[in-house]
Amino acid sequence: MNTIADHISQVLAALPEGVRLVAVSKFHDAAAVRQAYDAGQRRFGESRVQELLAKAPLLPDDVEWHFIGHLQTNKVRQLIGKTSLIESVDSERLLELIDKESERAGTVTRVLLQVHVAREETKFGFYPEEIMEYFRNRRFEQLKAVHICGLMGMASNTDDTDRVNEDFSAIHKIYRDIKALCPDLRGFDILSMGMSGDWPSAVEHGSNMVRIGTAIFGPRQY
Ligand SMILES: *Cc1c(COP(=O)(O)O)cnc(C)c1O
Repeated sequence: MNTIADHISQVLAALPEGVRLVAVSKFHDAAAVRQAYDAGQRRFGESRVQELLAKAPLLPDDVEWHFIGHLQTNKVRQLIGKTSLIESVDSERLLELIDKESERAGTVTRVLLQVHVAREETKFGFYPEEIMEYFRNRRFEQLKAVHICGLMGMASNTDDTDRVNEDFSAIHKIYRDIKALCPDLRGFDILSMGMSGDWPSAVEHGSNMVRIGTAIFGPRQY
């Protein structure tokens, strides 16, 4: 029980119905992605633009690529049209740029807004008060070519399970608060939380999309 296909079926068997799996393939080659594809997996997560652009042509067209890393503004144009979901939109400036470039390319880009709750200086994302203000002021109405499909978040990188639970719970609350604040928001229904080490806790706290790399593909060679 050591192959990628086995790992995928183990994860799928453990996931409750309605929770979607993103297989995080960053730093693994196209052959590894192909093994997962042949096992039926279609949704893959990549964190670097160049890597996604290099891998995508090596795999069938029905792969849904999710971008999950910090997206630099100078890489936005290259990424537009190549993803089924950009999960890691971490600032309003980036959101506006994706909108502008998507309109220019004549496409609509589906995104998640990344929320920052973890106690780590280095993590990107909207602060809770910042994201609530964005929706309270209904600034999403100005978007022309972006569809905000929900939120993505990460818990603090710690063994303290109370802390991890609190972080996921806080992100879930923001998700519900936004839905309550803007009940007319269409297709805002993805809550992407949980990685190899913490996904059961994320699912307990309302996640309906998990991003799992190591538990499927093994350790990454950086
Ligand atoms: C790498 C990464 C993951 C997957 O992490 P694993 O611990 O390997 O499951 C999930 N989400 C994001 C944003 C990542 O960068």
